Amino acid sequence: MQKGKIGVTSDNLFPIIKKFLYSDHDIFLREIVSNAVDATQKLRTLAAKGEYSGDISNAKVSVKIDKEAKTLTVSDNGIGMTAEEVEKFINQIAFSGAEEFLEKYKTDANAIIGHFGLGFYSSFMVSSKVEIISKSYREGATAIRWECDGSPEYMLEDFQRDEVGTDIVMYINPDSEEFLEKSRITEMLNKYCKFLPIPVVFGKKTSWKDGKEVESDEDNQINDVAPAWTKKPVDLTEEDYTKFYHQLYPMAEDPLFNIHLNVDYPFNLTGILYFPKLKNTIEVQKNKIQLYSNQVFVTDSVEGIVPEFLTLLHGVLDSPDIPLNVSRSYLQNDSNVRKISSHITKKVADRLQQLFTEKREDFEAKWDDLRLFIEYGMLTEDKFYDKAEKFFLFKNTDDKYFTLEEYETLIKSEQTDKEKNLIYLYTSNAEEQFSFVQAAKNKGYDVLVMNNVLSTPLINKFEQKFTNKRFVRVDSDVAEHLIAKENTAKELSWEERDALSPIFKAVCPENKGYGFNVDFKDLGPNGNPMVITRNEFMRRMKDMSQMQGGMSFYGDLPENLNLVVNTSHPLVKQIFEERDALLGEELEKVNTEIAAKESEKEKLDKKKKDKKEEEIPAEVKEKTEELDNAISSLMEQRKEKLSSFGKENKLAKQLVDLALLANGMLKGEDLDKFVKRSFELIK
Ligand code: ADP
Repeated sequence: MQKGKIGVTSDNLFPIIKKFLYSDHDIFLREIVSNAVDATQKLRTLAAKGEYSGDISNAKVSVKIDKEAKTLTVSDNGIGMTAEEVEKFINQIAFSGAEEFLEKYKTDANAIIGHFGLGFYSSFMVSSKVEIISKSYREGATAIRWECDGSPEYMLEDFQRDEVGTDIVMYINPDSEEFLEKSRITEMLNKYCKFLPIPVVFGKKTSWKDGKEVESDEDNQINDVAPAWTKKPVDLTEEDYTKFYHQLYPMAEDPLFNIHLNVDYPFNLTGILYFPKLKNTIEVQKNKIQLYSNQVFVTDSVEGIVPEFLTLLHGVLDSPDIPLNVSRSYLQNDSNVRKISSHITKKVADRLQQLFTEKREDFEAKWDDLRLFIEYGMLTEDKFYDKAEKFFLFKNTDDKYFTLEEYETLIKSEQTDKEKNLIYLYTSNAEEQFSFVQAAKNKGYDVLVMNNVLSTPLINKFEQKFTNKRFVRVDSDVAEHLIAKENTAKELSWEERDALSPIFKAVCPENKGYGFNVDFKDLGPNGNPMVITRNEFMRRMKDMSQMQGGMSFYGDLPENLNLVVNTSHPLVKQIFEERDALLGEELEKVNTEIAAKESEKEKLDKKKKDKKEEEIPAEVKEKTEELDNAISSLMEQRKEKLSSFGKENKLAKQLVDLALLANGMLKGEDLDKFVKRSFELIK
């Protein structure tokens, strides 16, 4: 028997392991089982080379719980270790700068284990004593038993054992007794060992008989030793892919399609990524991409390893080239990781392009499910955007799909404005904005459906990319003005507007959380008498700030709507006539007075012309001020008259209410009043 001190430079390794590795305790099992798998694979390799002639057909790793002895044992029939090898591989651990490193990564067991090559020693996170019983495959090797109770002293002695292989016996400490529970171990094996390349067996298969769980003779094998991603794509059918998907996510809906990755230069990467069915919101995904290293599960938080938008995908990635046992911040700066990340992005884009080119119909059918993912990618990864430009699809209100290029050709002739901008019309809700969509279509325009959470940022992105293209929501103006063409219709002068707007302002709803501008346009006698529109720019700013959440300048502004009055509609004309009949004389009087004061003021202005401020006589200044006051008070009078006329005018009120109703904005008491007023008007 031999006793000795484990070769660490730090005084005592074990308290540090226990103290710092307080999270992720369960990875010890992954470490011990993968060591066992490695040892088994090594023996296979030796056998294949003819350097070992023993039987390897039954190679497996077994995990056993002994509740009485309070031990958890991992056994393999791999290469085993001689006393010298134990001395070399187990007793001598390089260990420098430990404290500092541990302090930095104390919550990241992976980083610590990787940094120090402490795989085996992670067993001390849960054990008060660990035993290694091993017999090397080498001819005539003596079996050994090594034991250590968590102090740096170990014991190593010869032992009696016939078969080649290793048992790691962990004496579970009282704080960690959960690791003596079958259910807990099953859960951990399923998490970390589900796809290891050597059979991992945990007890026997059981079944339920007469309300009791009974064991069968069959090994309870945890893992699938040859998961789909390790096979060649030619050997797999669509069904195999779907089956594997459900192996990963038993409860999930069938995926849309998959991408089989297989790269060996300049790095090693295999895997299968699946496009899941996404909802219209980007919610936190339950099912995540799983990252493996040579079939050993490492993590399912791949943020930083794959671009953010790809985390919406499901599936597995397996690469021995991703430095797995290191911290996340290190990963993100690793050049291999960056290469892998851009490679995956490219692959995903290529696959989408291929689907689009080869099976466009199918691609269109899946578009509504793919759309959010693709848009997210376009918004966050420029490289993806460049590729996606060729297969991104616009969908219009007739459910037809177009590529960017096709759509441009479609709308070019009708939807180019006088400044040579191409105007893309869209609706965020074809039902609510029905009348606007209809009006635009009647003008011969096409309307796109842009109705998900990413529409607004995507539109901004397109507009940044193409300076001569603009997106305009159908309800941002009346159809005639959505696309500014050479103007032929006569617009009202400011004076004329001033003499009309108070009438309509008076009938606009107040204190409803939005304000109104009144505008006048000639929409023809067949257009609606009044239309409510929302300014595109302001609305988009509000949308954006709402997406970002929290308080913001635009988000807090009340919504500003335009009430567009159609000056050539007979009903509007009727209001004008009523105004003239009722107020004509009064208004004319005020108008003449205003005109008189204004011409007086003009004369004064002429006198002041070319004079410096201090050269103007005081009386002239006074007179000007007097006139200004008189004019504004006259204007105020006029406004008052128009306002009170408007308030009394049932037709004006009715027309505004109809416009509100068409926008789904007439509610509650206002709606009730409208209905009652309608009866009166019909009578
Ligand atoms: P790593 O596996 O990263 O090298 P470990 O601390 O897990 O670090 O293991 C150290 C060494 O001990 C291994 O490289 C291997 O040579 C040896 N070893 C560990 N477990 C076994 C086993 N079950 N059978 C044979 N050798 C083993």
